[in-house]
Amino acid sequence: MKSHARVVVIGGGVVGCSVLYHLTKFGWTDVVLVERSELTSGSTWHAAGGMHTINGDPNVAKLQKYTVELYKEIQDYSGQDIGLHMTSGMMLASTKDRFDWMKSILAKGRYMGLDAHLLTPKEAHDLMPLLDPDQFVGAVFDPVEGHLDPYGTTHAYAKSAKKNGADIYLHTKVEDLVQREDGSWRVITNKGEIIAEHVVNCGGLWAREVGRMVGLELPVLAMEHMYLITEDMPEVTEFNQTRGKELMHCVDFDGEIYLRQERNGMLMGTYEKACRPWSPLNTPWDFGHELLAEDIERITPELEVGFRHFPAFNKAGIKKVINGPFTFSPDGNPLVGPVRGMTNFWSACAVMAGFSQGGGVGLALANWMINGDPGFDVFAMDVSRYGDFATLGYTNAKVRENYSRRFSIRYPNEELPGGRPLLTTPIYDKLKAAGAVFGASYGLEAPLWFAPEGVEDQFSWRRSTDFDTVGAEAKAVRESVGLMETSGFAKYAVKGRGAEAWLDRLLTCRIPATGRMTLAPMLKDDGKLIGDFTLAKLGEGDFLLIGSGIAEDYHMRWFESHLPDDGSVTLEALNLSLVGLAIAGPKARDVLQKLTHQDLSTSAFAFMDVRRMDLGMAQAIVGRVSYTGDLGYEIWMKPQYQRYLYDLILEAGAEFGIRLFGLRALNALRLEKSYGSWSREYRPLYGPVEAGLERFVALRKGADFIGKEAAKAERETGGALRLRTFILEAKDADVIGDEPIYLDGEVRGWVTSGGYAHAAGLSVAVGYVPKEIADVATGWSIELLGDVLPARLHAEPLFDPSGAKMRG
Ligand SMILES: Cc1cc2nc3c(=O)[nH]c(=O)nc-3n(C[C@H](O)[C@H](O)[C@H](O)COP(=O)(O)OP(=O)(O)OC[C@H]3O[C@@H](n4cnc5c(N)ncnc54)[C@H](O)[C@@H]3O)c2cc1C
Repeated sequence: MKSHARVVVIGGGVVGCSVLYHLTKFGWTDVVLVERSELTSGSTWHAAGGMHTINGDPNVAKLQKYTVELYKEIQDYSGQDIGLHMTSGMMLASTKDRFDWMKSILAKGRYMGLDAHLLTPKEAHDLMPLLDPDQFVGAVFDPVEGHLDPYGTTHAYAKSAKKNGADIYLHTKVEDLVQREDGSWRVITNKGEIIAEHVVNCGGLWAREVGRMVGLELPVLAMEHMYLITEDMPEVTEFNQTRGKELMHCVDFDGEIYLRQERNGMLMGTYEKACRPWSPLNTPWDFGHELLAEDIERITPELEVGFRHFPAFNKAGIKKVINGPFTFSPDGNPLVGPVRGMTNFWSACAVMAGFSQGGGVGLALANWMINGDPGFDVFAMDVSRYGDFATLGYTNAKVRENYSRRFSIRYPNEELPGGRPLLTTPIYDKLKAAGAVFGASYGLEAPLWFAPEGVEDQFSWRRSTDFDTVGAEAKAVRESVGLMETSGFAKYAVKGRGAEAWLDRLLTCRIPATGRMTLAPMLKDDGKLIGDFTLAKLGEGDFLLIGSGIAEDYHMRWFESHLPDDGSVTLEALNLSLVGLAIAGPKARDVLQKLTHQDLSTSAFAFMDVRRMDLGMAQAIVGRVSYTGDLGYEIWMKPQYQRYLYDLILEAGAEFGIRLFGLRALNALRLEKSYGSWSREYRPLYGPVEAGLERFVALRKGADFIGKEAAKAERETGGALRLRTFILEAKDADVIGDEPIYLDGEVRGWVTSGGYAHAAGLSVAVGYVPKEIADVATGWSIELLGDVLPARLHAEPLFDPSGAKMRG
């Protein structure tokens, strides 16, 4: 065994072998994989081996596309047969709602160039005669689907990596990991020790245990999963003989089952409602190539639907039932990337669809390790999307929910109940008493809207029961004044003698003067956006940075890895030790003025001013800014003051008819102002010119901020895309995000977000299109739930285009 290696990959499942292969492919060949048993000894060996491209998240779909396209390459390069069967596939819907959902998935696929299309039940039956067409309302055909041999595939990755110079040590168990002073790792195995610059946790079923070796509790849990294999079926043989090909893959969403041909019979698997975690606290080290006891009763309800939808199964004998465990994160996406707070400790685990995603995960991680960047937008599977709130108990609740809903529709207005309520702010009960309907974001309950007595969200693709109330909330803000809670934003205190210089290097904006705020984009080296903040300078060496709540760990990882080591900057994610309220609307100043002796007139407290001030008896930080685009104030306070201030503001606002509003009204209001938001308009895919943020990129400031050279280049070339606002002729539904944008009937762009702008009375879509066509006046349309609707480019914000109201 080698005593030193640049990288030690822990785990020889499909994911570990893919990571190893990609590292060697990109030139890192001093790499080692250690496997406690044989390759495939975790969940990989008993997988059904199915793979497909389509995914609800376009960025994950891209990874899946890459994975499927990689298979021929590794088979050819390694000489190892991977048993590839590209059968094509279909997704089936038996309700109209489901079919609506499929149309939205199809529309997403369209701008990615996926070659999928709709089928009638009859067309579906022609392609797959085992199904009963009367049970379905339609289907989506996907040519890029199939299945393969898990063993052969894993070995093909491994052989390819070895061919490139990697070493693989079997029957070598990592027993401990100890970091040395120089940052390298002592990888302590039962066969000796390897000193490694980097360690990658591809432990699969044991990823949690490997994490614990370094003090990490990764949000990952294994679930039992069953599929059955039938005896030979005459219908299968007949199809094979008459058509000269295999039966295709099917996912039957309403039956919550998937099926494919297996030799001369069929394989059917379920994501059952009565799901069961496996080894919820610890994964036994002696678990290996054994299966779990079959438990057909648990999956009977799903099988009954499956057998009704595919009647040939009723006559088939069951040859085998496979029950094996595999791992999930709380949202079902992998946990990939560098772990915050650690040097060179990488995660590539919780990959629940290793044969659809393993290649993409390997690619992203190898890019990240070698180039410092995953090379594309991987936020959906970034290990940093979970903070401390994702405990073992939270993970258990969410994974069970996720597994049991794997084939369920999630409506755009549907908030899932698992693991909630977890984090709440001091005014939670008051908001609840006022009718708040909550959503959970980063573990925190946040009000979405305030429902009248007896009204609740009816889940739908179309406008729903909240429509009129959200409209009234938005209009109250525009016409008088509204109050909302803003505690869900991430808040960072940046202090110290080096704070200003550090922020100047990190952020693209000019550092504001004391008592002022500015918008502050943050770029990677390649000039793409990795953050958009509001930066407030409260005093010398005393800054408050406000950003997206869901990206707190993601941003902290970046901040911490760029902190100077001379102690001149201190950084703290304040989380719920600082909470917030915001008031907005033409009467906002009148309300606030009642609570303070300080002069709030524009000459004394202008737009983007920030100040510590007492409101009534409470200390607060008040910034004159509002994401609604109105005259407005963000008010930050210690949690112990929040109840008091909430009551005080409501009381002061009563004479102006102050109204509570939630995140849905906020979305409607910010759309009218064409304000972008993190993870939608602003992502590591786009540059600041493309995103319309170039005025906050101070190329001429003294500091050499990160991404400056790339930002200069983008300014010169103009980048490739432009963010644009469209008005859509929509009748009873609005866009959500990822719908295709057409110009003259051709897909040219994609929607990043949208909704109904209540105060303007218009349906709005915001999205990216190529810059060459970004100002074309006519010919636009946007696809919404299967209909292509005319759209009008809107050059300036619908609300207050001159900014007079917000500044006045
Ligand atoms: C019944 C069933 C059907 C499935 N069907 C499909 C399907 O059709 N399509 C699909 O894409 N996915 C399917 N899956 C999921 C798929 O199996 C997983 O996504 C995949 O196996 C994950 O691979 P992995 O490498 O992350 O983990 P694992 O396969 O669990 O590999 C982890 C490896 O790490 C090793 N290891 C752990 N700790 C240590 C240590 N300390 N030292 C040394 N080695 C260690 C283990 O021995 C193991 O070999 C299915 C799963 C099951 C259970």
